[in-house]
Amino acid sequence: MGNKDVNNLIKYIKAIIFDVRIKEDIPEEFAEDNDFLEIDQTIKTLRESVRAIGIGDLLYNIKGKGYIVGTLKNLQASLKTLKWQTKAVASGDFSQSVDFLGEFSDAFNSMTRKLEASIEEVKDSKEYFEMLFQAIPDPTIITSIDNGDIFEYNEAFVDITGYTKEEIESKNTDELNFYISQGQREYLILELRKNGFFKNMEAVFQNKNKEQINAIVSSKFINIKGTTYILSVIRDITHLKEIEKRLRESEERHRLLADNASDVIWTMDLEGKFTYISPSVEKLRGYSVEEVLKQSQEEVLCPSSLIHMKQGLENAIKSVQNNQPFKDFRGELEQPCKDGSTVWTEVTVSGMYNEEGGFIGMLGVTRNITKRKKMEKEIIKLSITDKLTQLYNRLKLDETFENELARSRISKKTFSIILLDIDHFKLVNDTFGHQVGDTVLVEIANILKNNVGSTDVIGRWGGEEFLIILPEVEGKGGKLLAEKLRAKIDHNNFMIAGHLTSSFGVAVYKDDISPASMVSRADEALYKAKENGRNRVEFL
Ligand code: GH3
Ligand code: MG
Ligand code: MG
Repeated sequence: MGNKDVNNLIKYIKAIIFDVRIKEDIPEEFAEDNDFLEIDQTIKTLRESVRAIGIGDLLYNIKGKGYIVGTLKNLQASLKTLKWQTKAVASGDFSQSVDFLGEFSDAFNSMTRKLEASIEEVKDSKEYFEMLFQAIPDPTIITSIDNGDIFEYNEAFVDITGYTKEEIESKNTDELNFYISQGQREYLILELRKNGFFKNMEAVFQNKNKEQINAIVSSKFINIKGTTYILSVIRDITHLKEIEKRLRESEERHRLLADNASDVIWTMDLEGKFTYISPSVEKLRGYSVEEVLKQSQEEVLCPSSLIHMKQGLENAIKSVQNNQPFKDFRGELEQPCKDGSTVWTEVTVSGMYNEEGGFIGMLGVTRNITKRKKMEKEIIKLSITDKLTQLYNRLKLDETFENELARSRISKKTFSIILLDIDHFKLVNDTFGHQVGDTVLVEIANILKNNVGSTDVIGRWGGEEFLIILPEVEGKGGKLLAEKLRAKIDHNNFMIAGHLTSSFGVAVYKDDISPASMVSRADEALYKAKENGRNRVEFL
């Protein structure tokens, strides 16, 4: 090989190795040399292969043979394996390790271990977060700021909305119609932007069935992977609101009723102290509510009524202590007024219970019954009074008679009766008319009334007959009084009828068992008086 040949060869090989982009033809001297052509081909293959591997084409088919090409093939195979292992690592398989790349292998393996550890850490904290998130008893969601897309939600949120998980996952809060008004969401976000968080804001939502949900919401911004979201905890207070509303309504209604009722409505604690009294008490007793609240039971009730009331309440409270319902107490009570008078009231007391059924005190209604009491008195008086003479009637006489008999039987004290009958009264009617007869009956009644003792009971026995019951008066006293009355009538000048007389029969208690037996003796005496000439007193 001449010098020129060698120079040409070196120039050519350099051009190939250093990728000189000048078309270099094979020097003529070697164009026919097989050995050279092989070297030339190998260098070209190496160039192509290294270029392909260099740009990442690991599937490039490396042709040729020999030590260098073999090593290159090995490198390509190692890179292929590494590529596959890296892919496996990327998909979470950290079991890969590399030992065919020297120092690089160590770096790869150390990276795999670190990746595995940090991925485990992320997984752990994600699981921990998930667990905490699901454990929040109140509905909790993480939403995007812009459109309310739901990024995360817990079971409680599913429950409160009434939607299925699929529905929640495919919709944002607007599409769920969660906010009753869009303005509400905007307002909450505005509040959130002020401080980055807000606490316990009242809001109104609705569930899938369009039922209103009253809630308090606490929200804050949180950062996840560089994006800001809103974390919101929602507390359902619908039930609370409903109770609050009902309580307010019923309280208002009761107050309205109590404040305006003419009856006095009051509540009392278990110690017997008033806890509420309606203003109408002032109209009833003259004392203001403030004054009555300070009064003791002794100042509220007259003595006999206090005993009555205490007995009633003791019984009622006893039944509560025995786990029985409070026995309602109803009674007529007399109460002192500020001006020194008293007022009669009808009091009804019932038990008050809390929601759990616990006894918490008494509720009373006090009604003024002074008018009713007066009417009752009037009715009682009417029922025992003879209309014409205003003396007692037969009813009262019978009652008094029975009482006296009973009293005498027990105390061994005696009593007398006087029965009197106007003489020839028929003649008065016949001569002057029935009306004059009536006037005579009234005049006689007045004479009797004005001449008997305060404990004596006078009544019209029937027609023109009168009966006087004389408690604790013996026969002698009875006869004396009868004589006095006889004389009074005898000496009276009746308005039209002029002079009139009466006959008297007196009887005294003799272990009689009924009024009839005693009256029949008086009647017999009276008959005797008539027989003996009238205007007389007889005794049996
Ligand atoms: P005697 O002396 O026997 O009693 O004669 P008398 O006329 O009174 O006879 P009697 O007792 O039998 O008659 C009672 C009369 O009294 C009969 C009846 O018309 C009359 N009388 C009864 N009640 C009333 C009344 O309320 N008003 C009036 N004006 N007359 C009455
Ligand atoms: Mg008669
Ligand atoms: Mg008569």
